[in-house]
Amino acid sequence: MTGSSAAQGPEFDGVALPAPQLAPLTLDTQLRTALSVPQANALLKAFGMVTVSDLLSHYPRDYADREVLRPLNQLTPGANITVIADIISVHEKRMASRPGTIVEVVISDGGGQFTLTFFGKNSQEWRLKQLRPGLRGSFSGKVRMYKGESQLANPAYKTFESEEEEALQDPSLRLRHKPLIPIYAATAAETSWNLQTLIDHVLRRVGHLPDPVPDDLRMQHGLLNHTQAIHWIHSPDNQTEWMAAQETLRFTEAWVLQCALMQRHSLARERRTRARVPTPGGYLERFDAALPFVLTVDQEICAAEIANDMAQSGPMNRLLQGEVGSGKTVVALRAMLAVADSGGQTALLAPTEVLAGQHLRSITTLLGPDLAAELMPTLLTGKLPVAQKRKALLRTVSGQSRIVIGTHALLSDTVTFFDLGLVVIDEQHRFGVDQRETLRLKGAEPPHVLVMTATPIPRTIAMTVFGDLDVSTIRMLPAGRQGITSIVVPLADHPDWFQRIWTKLAEELALGRQGFVVCPAISPVEIEEGLEAEPETGPEEKKIPLANVDTVHERLRDFAPLAGYRIEVLHGRMASDEKDRIMRSFAAGEIDVLVATTVIEVGVDVPNASAMVVLDADRFGVSQLHQLRGRVGRGGVPGLCLLVTNARLGSPARQRIADVAATLDGFVLAELDLALRREGDVLGDLQSGDGSKLRFLRVAVDGDMIAEVRQAAYHLVTGDPGIRTNPALREAIARRLNETERTWLNKG
Ligand code: ADP
Ligand code: MG
Repeated sequence: MTGSSAAQGPEFDGVALPAPQLAPLTLDTQLRTALSVPQANALLKAFGMVTVSDLLSHYPRDYADREVLRPLNQLTPGANITVIADIISVHEKRMASRPGTIVEVVISDGGGQFTLTFFGKNSQEWRLKQLRPGLRGSFSGKVRMYKGESQLANPAYKTFESEEEEALQDPSLRLRHKPLIPIYAATAAETSWNLQTLIDHVLRRVGHLPDPVPDDLRMQHGLLNHTQAIHWIHSPDNQTEWMAAQETLRFTEAWVLQCALMQRHSLARERRTRARVPTPGGYLERFDAALPFVLTVDQEICAAEIANDMAQSGPMNRLLQGEVGSGKTVVALRAMLAVADSGGQTALLAPTEVLAGQHLRSITTLLGPDLAAELMPTLLTGKLPVAQKRKALLRTVSGQSRIVIGTHALLSDTVTFFDLGLVVIDEQHRFGVDQRETLRLKGAEPPHVLVMTATPIPRTIAMTVFGDLDVSTIRMLPAGRQGITSIVVPLADHPDWFQRIWTKLAEELALGRQGFVVCPAISPVEIEEGLEAEPETGPEEKKIPLANVDTVHERLRDFAPLAGYRIEVLHGRMASDEKDRIMRSFAAGEIDVLVATTVIEVGVDVPNASAMVVLDADRFGVSQLHQLRGRVGRGGVPGLCLLVTNARLGSPARQRIADVAATLDGFVLAELDLALRREGDVLGDLQSGDGSKLRFLRVAVDGDMIAEVRQAAYHLVTGDPGIRTNPALREAIARRLNETERTWLNKG
């Protein structure tokens, strides 16, 4: 029959063409169309995947060889693993305490053996038929510890024998049983081989995948085309193929990210805003005239870069980085005064209440009484008493206060500015890109944005996380700083040195100076977040409890050489007004020793503080220790930092502390930190400049490639800001932004 019923699909010469839904898939095809709805829903639930692109960019994290077993080491409890192994033995036994049976299957990965346990309410005869000694297969589940051994409880599995049987039903499957099996990050519901099947299905239906990397760049770097790379990453015949695919996809990832950042940078520049320039005889001039010191050369250069940015009609987007005490605040304040000269306001955003309070104090001091009275720097945080908050809000909306300092409460909808000209964000690494965006929208015209960080940022991180910002760096410290001496106190080798620490501290106090004692925990049980993992200790060593604020405080008060000194505590669990009060009296010299957690890490500025004792220093990261140490030696007195540890000589933890003690150069330590820490720890939530996750790109090792790609991205975006000449790239950027949006929504 030659009808053309829509239901049957069109006909041509009597041959049915593929039904419309079998048209080739594109990267943007919804998974609900490409797969069945339940399959699509399962992928959405397990991984947040929506489109074909999401599924295809779920790259294998490993490949297993059917022929060659590979020993599994590193069985971390809680990890979801997939392993190819041989079945060695199978036993079913009754459970002692309740009805049902346990099947115990011992498998071998070629190196060691490993037990799988299956619990069943009834006899598991059927399972014994599937899992026979001698068979090889994939096993997938969560590692748990049982009686000191790691095992998989109720893992999913698939024997190669069952694969053979499936192939008998569908011969096309046999062709696809390649020697390498991709291993995907999986969940209990979505096993690695399920994902493999779905990806395989989609791969057979995608047509040509357009290349986001231009041909010339691809040739120059010897990369595969995108279609080839995607096929080889999921379904390689050999190692050479997947390695070539990884290289191409790593480059592509860097390329798309850098183009996205460059484009954002250039779009931000294109927005119109008001230039903010100082007026003759205005606030800035008066401030400069009264400044009791001369700016360092670096401060001058950074100040000029900022002034130049703010004199443009496009908004500034600049990162100001410099060591603790390098004088960033003065530089930022000068920018605030230029804005005040133009009639505008500045919002200064700090990561904690303590820091916001301190910024208020140091800015008020720097301004001096006259300027402070005129500019009315105001604190606006979530924890202010209602009446005070109302007053602060009023000063902000009326424009009376030219400098408003606060925590993220400044981001809330109730805060309105009269004329927001500049946003200064202190310690950017704690703020997400989206928060930066929220603040930006608070001005009638986009405000200029200055991000300050005291954590020296390794070059690659600057390019990825802050790739949309221009960077100014203060490398030198103001002259006259006395420096800091850092000493490792290894208690593992010299337990008796513990007493000496406190004698040393007492000596510093006797000179009229102040000190910090930093502990990783607040009380015997409460541990502050973000610490390093516990160092390896041999079974012969007894566990030494973590140094904590409460216990240390108690013991120091009873310690004779410290008798008569005022010792107080400071930690994150205290009420903010209490913290503020303590900080204030420490700054005023009414407290001699602060026993604290890392709340004192950033920004606390007490020039008279000369000594710091860090207990269990191995529990802090390299950059964290460096930041902590920066709290002392800030004034005219030399600093002393004792890094106390129980870690043994030769352990990585001990080496880390020795490295920190060996240099005061924060940029060197930042690079070291990057090399030592796991990627995610360094990047935290930010991951990359636009908040989506990095796949193959490793900022610790791919620096040179990223720099090169950034250069190429700069050229492309400068010549073609809308990326009109490369639709595939434009779409790849859009997909990346979509993914970012979803990431943030999921967090929400
Ligand atoms: P940062 O914000 O980078 O940690 P600050 O701006 O708070 O550093 O400066 C630290 C201390 O050094 C402050 O007391 C500040 O007044 C002082 N200071 C800043 N710049 C100079 C300079 N060029 N010469 C001398 N002292 C300076
Ligand atoms: Mg500061």
